[in-house]
Amino acid sequence: MEFDLIAKHFTRPTPGAVLGVGDDCALLAPTPGMQLAVSSDMLLEGRHFSPQDSANGIGHKSLAVNLSDLAAMGATPRWTTLSIALPEANDVWLTAFARGFFRMADMHNIELVGGDTTRGALTISITVMGEVPPGQALRRDGAQAGDDIWVSGELGSAAAALAYRQRRLSMEQIDAAKVLPALYLPTPRVELGIALRSIASSAIDISDGLLGDLGHILERSNVGATLEFSALPTLPVMQNYLHEAVARNCVLAGGDDYELCFTAPPNKQDAVRAAAESVGIVVSRVGRITTEPGLTVIGADGQPIPIEHTGHDHFAA
Ligand code: ADP
Ligand code: MG
Repeated sequence: MEFDLIAKHFTRPTPGAVLGVGDDCALLAPTPGMQLAVSSDMLLEGRHFSPQDSANGIGHKSLAVNLSDLAAMGATPRWTTLSIALPEANDVWLTAFARGFFRMADMHNIELVGGDTTRGALTISITVMGEVPPGQALRRDGAQAGDDIWVSGELGSAAAALAYRQRRLSMEQIDAAKVLPALYLPTPRVELGIALRSIASSAIDISDGLLGDLGHILERSNVGATLEFSALPTLPVMQNYLHEAVARNCVLAGGDDYELCFTAPPNKQDAVRAAAESVGIVVSRVGRITTEPGLTVIGADGQPIPIEHTGHDHFAA
């Protein structure tokens, strides 16, 4: 039964692996001279997605959030494993989940080479492996005072969608429809991460909110930062709600965006713009790295905005 399920839903040709699903181990041959970048992320029902969410969307998002970590490292995706606990072997659910998962996998040329399948509360644990040339990985500890701070895409849409779903932010239905895809179908910025190799001085993906995630760069790099609120990119629809503290907080500290936040020296501004343009992703310059520690957000009036909370505590009850 378990083996039928694996054969039917999770066994695909793996031309990029020596041996894929079906043996005790997969066999992988990394490209000589490249470093392996490895990351795992776990998604739990009730915490990272809700029971009503579409199986296709869960398949998409669970691989997308893992690919986002490879993007933030500047790594080229190669292989992935998928460990899944399911309350029952529901063929319709698995078919839709696999469709979302493999669609995302095919978009980024990552191959499913193994995993584990067991009965239990719905839990998805994915490991991704990618490759990066030695010395070119985009680490969190490379930001220097004077560097520009950049972000890709738009911020706050996913958090606004969640706040709308949880009735913490009331939005017009037509507006909510514009932010909901960011929550359910995030786009990992894999091509941008690769294009920023040898340009960016540091990078992180925004999974827990800009302030919290930028805070990780500041801590690891031993620097501080000043951000300009009015420079933070949002979808146009978000402008209708920014008079509300909840919406402003979504932009500054909302999770689930999976955009990249990165730093680069000011003399690389043209190189950053060219790299972003070459992969068709919008980037915005939002602030500056400072010698003094701490994170300041400047409002439209030139005054610092009080910061409420920075990021997401994974152990909060
Ligand atoms: P073992 O008992 O040796 O751990 P399993 O019965 O767990 O083997 O798995 C059999 C094969 O199927 C292995 O190659 C494993 O990597 C693969 N596999 C199991 N579950 C999944 C899954 N959800 N996705 C992809 N491959 C899987
Ligand atoms: Mg096993």
